[in-house]
Amino acid sequence: MNTTTPRKTKLICTLGPATEDPEMIGRMMDAGANVFRLNMSHAKHDWAKRMAEAVREQAGRRGLHRAVLFDLTGPSIRTGALPETYDLREGDTVEFRKEGAAAVEEISTTVNYEGLMDDVSEGNTLVVDNGALLMEIEQVEDERIVCRVKTPGPLGSRRHINLPGVRLNLPALTEKDLKDLELAVECNADFIAGSFVRDASHVRELRAACDSLDGQAQIVAKVEDQEAVRNIDAIIHESDVIMIARGDLGTEVRFEELPILQRLIVKRCHELGTRVIVATHMLESMITQPTPTRAEVTDVMNAAYEEADALMLSGETSVGRYPERCVDAMDRIARRIERTGGHGYGQRVLLRDERLKTARAAVTLVDSLPDARLVVLTRRGVLANHVAMLRPRTPHLLAITPKDRVCRQLSLSRGVLAFKQPFATSIQGTIERACERLLEEGLVRKGMPLVVVSDILSDQFAANSILLHHA
Ligand code: PGA
Ligand code: MN
Repeated sequence: MNTTTPRKTKLICTLGPATEDPEMIGRMMDAGANVFRLNMSHAKHDWAKRMAEAVREQAGRRGLHRAVLFDLTGPSIRTGALPETYDLREGDTVEFRKEGAAAVEEISTTVNYEGLMDDVSEGNTLVVDNGALLMEIEQVEDERIVCRVKTPGPLGSRRHINLPGVRLNLPALTEKDLKDLELAVECNADFIAGSFVRDASHVRELRAACDSLDGQAQIVAKVEDQEAVRNIDAIIHESDVIMIARGDLGTEVRFEELPILQRLIVKRCHELGTRVIVATHMLESMITQPTPTRAEVTDVMNAAYEEADALMLSGETSVGRYPERCVDAMDRIARRIERTGGHGYGQRVLLRDERLKTARAAVTLVDSLPDARLVVLTRRGVLANHVAMLRPRTPHLLAITPKDRVCRQLSLSRGVLAFKQPFATSIQGTIERACERLLEEGLVRKGMPLVVVSDILSDQFAANSILLHHA
């Protein structure tokens, strides 16, 4: 990795059998992974715990801050256990019934969601296994629905079901999610993601559940269906981070809508000042192939060009054959487009308060000075995120914070390099010490203009100050 020009776009890698070895986790860090995701749909508790520890251990050895993200399963609808997979043909009749209800049709499976029959109507489309099989609902009864197969395919056990456009009354968190959340807090998770978040109250519920356990994690809302898109502003307001979960979202909308929605959500996150992740299928072919397809290269480049905070790898690094190559490919593609520039949605951030206006002034100043650097003194990381969201052109946004956790949470923020340093009693003392450190690290050169923005209180400076300092 080229350390003199850090990559701005952050990378989230999902851990799994292909990457569970601690040495491998270390190598992924060396290749440029910033955040490690544990997918609780697959992870066992003792395994997740070991992984979280391994990430901390490997990061510690390298003197790096790397975050752990626990991704909760959420309330997904699934088919029941079947003795064998049905190979369905067009026109076949399939029944989905409540658990405990007797099978009427020949081809029949239970479904894990009791409320399904109340939420759907005749004519709705039912999608199995991310589009492997499509059906139309023909009949809705109290204990069963009957569907007609439109696009043939296999119907297996515990397959994921999507109902595009249908408003579902699923709970925000399942029993399993609550147990997984407890584990996440116990493992000191930096981020906790809620799946199938459909409105702001679901985010609030997750945050309240996390708070009640004294968890310090930031909350990621996964936008995976049309209802979440309809409620996007309210969801963005309640969340620390938004994830554009293209896997499920791509099943829930017509596929030609997906890139439009991606762009719209990225733009809205910028305007409202919330970090955003683009996830799923970024390098899907690399699960089995050593190089990406041309279309994948273009997709990754597009997301980096849109200036998302982070891009996510799922199967590519959890079960794929080439996890390190995937990280390397993301790194190369992101760096290349970062040399050219980005979409500039940072210009559209709504400057709602004085603090945001101060951040804007600092960014304008640093971008107007040749070869200047931006330093943010930030206690909780809030100001660093505000400044980063304005997408300064300067290659480094150096965040100084007294807290390890804040350093780790900033590892997901675009363009931010965080350093842990206790604040001195005077702001000058803090700046001088930070300066020494940055000179040592080779991130700034002697005499270089540094724009220092801070909202920490000190004896001589009020909140919201901008200082021009020379290293
Ligand atoms: P998942 O979420 O991988 O947990 O399904 C991401 C997505 O749907 O894209
Ligand atoms: Mn999903």
